[in-house]
Amino acid sequence: MPIQPERLAKTFVRLCEIDSPSRREGPVAAFLKGLFATEFRAEILEDNSAPFTGSDTGNLVVRIPGRGGGLPPFFCNCHFDVVEPSCGVKVRRHGETFTSAGATVLGADDKAGIAMLVEMARCLKEDGRLQSPLEFIFTTCEEVGLLGAKNFDFSLVRAASGYALDSAGLDLAVVAAPAANHFTVDVYGLAAHAGLHPETGINAIQLAARAMAELPLGRLDAESTANIGVISGGKATNIIPDLVTLEGEVRSHDHDKLARYTQAIKNSFQQAVAGFGPPPPSAGPPRGAARIRFAAQEQFPAMKLNPGDHVLQLLSKAAEQLHRRLDFTVAGGGSDANIFSAHGLPTAILGTGMTDVHTTDESITLTALVRTTELLLTMYHVSQN
Ligand SMILES: [Zn+2]
Repeated sequence: MPIQPERLAKTFVRLCEIDSPSRREGPVAAFLKGLFATEFRAEILEDNSAPFTGSDTGNLVVRIPGRGGGLPPFFCNCHFDVVEPSCGVKVRRHGETFTSAGATVLGADDKAGIAMLVEMARCLKEDGRLQSPLEFIFTTCEEVGLLGAKNFDFSLVRAASGYALDSAGLDLAVVAAPAANHFTVDVYGLAAHAGLHPETGINAIQLAARAMAELPLGRLDAESTANIGVISGGKATNIIPDLVTLEGEVRSHDHDKLARYTQAIKNSFQQAVAGFGPPPPSAGPPRGAARIRFAAQEQFPAMKLNPGDHVLQLLSKAAEQLHRRLDFTVAGGGSDANIFSAHGLPTAILGTGMTDVHTTDESITLTALVRTTELLLTMYHVSQN
């Protein structure tokens, strides 16, 4: 049977209307477990990531057996969780466009992808053309730091490469995404009464400002960016502040540059502190000097596919068969595909056609849902030859 658009629409709406904020993906996981077990007699495995992610479910691996024994599985990934405001979604359909009723996001990110996988599996089963097994990985907590993927039990995967359905855009594949470091800088000064003993204090806000003035921020080069996005500190106007905390991030498609830029930011703060000096001896007995504490942590590694990689070759062949031009693009953000690729599972990200994601204006059309499912089915068939 060909793709049934109204059946696909129904699956999509049903999925959107099941609440699944990050860490509370249990109900949508249960719904899919039931669906895949009943309709496909799928093998369903839940990993032990829940205690590490704080979710009420683990990640799910769904294996739908094919008739071609021993063939490598066709692997696709979507995430269960939806950004806030996400609870109580009521899907509105205007013609062929789906939106939320306005108070919540729609949840096409990433339920459009999940609905496409269900439709794809149904079509293959009805056609009797399920040769290679299908292997779907559904993750939790993608939207709160890729926690599901980071804690995923990779020993459960049989596939060697695959696709994440998790990008805006149609007929589009993301082939590279940057690595990112998150950093926190605590800038310590010395507290003092601002009116009575200002000479004994060191103003941590002024110190942080000096360091920030020298910082490389914004677009650093063609493949790297940096930002400080949060700054907090100080207690009252009559107290010289002794602590300011800044939080920021550095992103780069090149791991060496990522390390260099992160170090440069740390150096800027250290130099600013060194240039400030302790209060003069006339201010009384020494009470210490300004200092910083800098901590950087990798948020996600970079992802980069090469034109010769099997995943991209398959995509190109499928696009050719459908007479479509695919847009191969580079992302500025990280997703589960970064984590999968770092674990030796090269994963291209496909556009599902969703728009205005992470806002209450989020939408998707039925044409987009059908079009991407068609691409997936064609990729599957091409992979069988
Ligand atoms: Zn997403």
